[in-house]
Amino acid sequence: MIAAPLNIDALLHHSELPEDLRNIAQKVVNNERISPEEGILLYEKGELGFLGSLANFVRERKHGNYTYFNRNFHIEPTNLCVYSCKFCSYSRLIKEREDGWIMTEEDMLNIVKRYDGKPVTEVHLVGGVIPQMGLHFFADLIKKIKLHRPDLHVKAFTPVEYFYMFKKAKVDYKEGLQILQNAGLDSIPGGGAEIFDEEIRNIICADKCTAQEWLDIHETAHSLNIPSNATMLYGHIESYAHRIDHMNRLRTLQDKTNGFNCFIPLKFRAANNEMAYLGEVSVIDDLRNYAVSRIFLDNFAHLKAYWPMIGRTTAQLSLSFGVDDIDGTVDDTTKIYSMAGSEEQNPSLTTKQIVELIKAVGRHPIERDSVYNVLTDYLKVSPPEEAAPQFIELPVLHNNNSYSNES
Ligand code: SF4
Repeated sequence: MIAAPLNIDALLHHSELPEDLRNIAQKVVNNERISPEEGILLYEKGELGFLGSLANFVRERKHGNYTYFNRNFHIEPTNLCVYSCKFCSYSRLIKEREDGWIMTEEDMLNIVKRYDGKPVTEVHLVGGVIPQMGLHFFADLIKKIKLHRPDLHVKAFTPVEYFYMFKKAKVDYKEGLQILQNAGLDSIPGGGAEIFDEEIRNIICADKCTAQEWLDIHETAHSLNIPSNATMLYGHIESYAHRIDHMNRLRTLQDKTNGFNCFIPLKFRAANNEMAYLGEVSVIDDLRNYAVSRIFLDNFAHLKAYWPMIGRTTAQLSLSFGVDDIDGTVDDTTKIYSMAGSEEQNPSLTTKQIVELIKAVGRHPIERDSVYNVLTDYLKVSPPEEAAPQFIELPVLHNNNSYSNES
């Protein structure tokens, strides 16, 4: 039994390590790719101490002690959605519009203006899918964001949103992405991937874009030099084989395009959704999943623990299980995981707090931009004193709102 983290030599020569796991570890040390079958074996047989030791070796070979974060905020234009994913705690069907919100362009530009004079570097724009918010609405919004603040990196929309808005605007992926790129789109976040396996996808999110459509949109983005991230929703009805199949499809596309910056496992949270009866996997499974992801996805530079989803303590622990990035300050501008029951009901960290959180587990805090250029080394400078964030009240709709479902 390997219960505690070991250095790599001690791991390789541990007398109790089964031969098949030793072979995998040796391949990883030799910088050789492991097969999908070996990935599944890691999930099935690898103990926490073994997986952590091996994943940490990979993490430190790639990044040393650096742990990345950025200063960011989110805009979630609406939580109304034409789709009905069973794991989603966030969306409200259009017929439930009194429970949801929809922002005007002015609302969203006002959020951007709240950050005037503040050193944020990225806005993350993602939300539900409704016909009223289409391609040209968002192109116009992005253009206005960039006019107001040209230096702000705009990371926006998932293939779920793109597929819908491009179809409605009658443009192909390339044309649609070019329209948004010309407006100022800089990169694409990783959401909407869920689990690629068609059978599972059919059960948990049958009506939105398919796995292949998700991959094709990212491939098209990469061909236009728009970088992106990738996620995987785990801990529901999928098997370990489905997780490896998912990562294998990403690894194959990354071989072709090298356009992904980062992989972000997203834990299924079991509050307020149709799959709540499943409960949640344990923190041990979260850490094992980070570790296998780090070992399997050899061509992804970065592995992120999204702290508003997993909580700050698990995010800190994950830094010993392959993770080198814990996302950003966020500033309580997302509701996606707080509505799903995350411990982080108002996810917000000041720069000082995020730096201290990283330092507390002996890592080296690095503020990055959205494509991982180093901006500030917080072992060399002290984090600024910032006022505590003021939480944003989202504009929840009421029946007398002028919003209508007819455009
Ligand atoms: S996960 Fe996204 S696409 Fe699915 S219902 Fe929720 S908001 Fe809509």
